[in-house]
Amino acid sequence: MALIVQKYGGSSVADADKINNVARRIIASNNKGNEVVVVVSAMGKTTDELIQLARKINPKPEERELDVLLSTGEIVSSTLMAMALHNMGYKAVSLSGPQAGIETDSVYSKARITRIEPRRILKELEKGNIVIVAGFQGLTKEEDITTLGRGGSDTTAVALAAALKAQICEIYTDVEGVFTADPHIVPEAHKLKEIGYEEMLELATLGAKVMHSRAVELGQVYNMPILVASSFNDKPGTIIHGGIPMEIRNKVRGIAQDLNVAKVTVVGVPDRPGIASAIFEVLAKANISVDTIVQNASINNITDLTFTVARGDLDKAMSLIKPIAKSIGAKDCVSDSTLAKISIVGTGMQNTPGYASGMFKALSEQNINIQLITTSEIKITCIIAENRAKDAIKALHKTFALEYGES
Ligand code: ADP
Ligand code: ASP
Ligand code: MG
Repeated sequence: MALIVQKYGGSSVADADKINNVARRIIASNNKGNEVVVVVSAMGKTTDELIQLARKINPKPEERELDVLLSTGEIVSSTLMAMALHNMGYKAVSLSGPQAGIETDSVYSKARITRIEPRRILKELEKGNIVIVAGFQGLTKEEDITTLGRGGSDTTAVALAAALKAQICEIYTDVEGVFTADPHIVPEAHKLKEIGYEEMLELATLGAKVMHSRAVELGQVYNMPILVASSFNDKPGTIIHGGIPMEIRNKVRGIAQDLNVAKVTVVGVPDRPGIASAIFEVLAKANISVDTIVQNASINNITDLTFTVARGDLDKAMSLIKPIAKSIGAKDCVSDSTLAKISIVGTGMQNTPGYASGMFKALSEQNINIQLITTSEIKITCIIAENRAKDAIKALHKTFALEYGES
């Protein structure tokens, strides 16, 4: 008997009909003789609605209270899923993240799983129950409820699969797998049969929200195969796994976009040691991740320092940086949150000429201005204006001939 972890995202459990549809899929897997542990997301746009509701009550809700509130979305769908299974004659039990033994650190709204104690889940499986776990949440050592960051139910699923030594973690969503670009933006995008952890991790980190990046990271660490497939049909999906030789391809595998980007520029900074460290240390202490960093060549010992952060972190970042900018004698500190990050991803890019120039040419032909560029072994990223993101992705998809599928 195989143990399988399945995860169903928000659009797959958006209403009563969809919950019943998912229940039938869970039963089909159970009837094949599998032990099934299911992770569910909140129904439809529930998480967004709860955030809006909280802000109506208090524009700056305390993070602790907000996490408890958001965790309720997944609790609702887990209980309804158990009820749907009961109604169809199957034994099932819903568990919250804390009941399922998911322990996290105490960074509210982006907590990381520190440990899973799956005793309760195993006990329920032994009793013959299908176990439905509320995704996206856990409990700190101090017994406070946390959430794992937007899209975090994927991470709950892969972490549980690893802890339970499941055969596979199946992520069911509203698209048929991982595509060469978001199929809602590029209709010609091609579904990948398989993709390695490295490339998938890069795509996810760079904004392809079909998988939460930390879920891919966990998959890689525990060598857990992950299937991404549709919850609406039975077409074969994409397998994310580790058995793909790194150097075989030399091809762009996919394009990612991230609209959650804001740029901060500290203008007229004196060019002397210690300045960058003063700025970035304070951001790190506030748990704000800094992404692309560019420092201009200095003229008369004065330079500009530009970096990007997630849009949700911009206000906090600006309030921390402004006093420092003043104290180091910088002229100004400005921000722009109407940007997008567009990346091409594929192993072996840095050592193969032509990718960067191909990307820049495709963007210039569309008259798209590139504001910042970063490259690594596996990706090339350009920061551009948000309102040109779709044009950029479509042009890049064509330039790198991604609609023609795997070679
Ligand atoms: P769920 O609610 O099931 O977790 P998400 O909305 O988080 O689903 O993720 C699925 C969405 O990811 C798709 O609807 C699609 O728009 C988007 N997406 C972005 N990039 C890709 C890609 N490369 N392949 C497939 N889907 C992608
Ligand atoms: N409900 C959460 C969100 O909307 C977590 C998830 O769906 O994975 O981000
Ligand atoms: Mg998701």
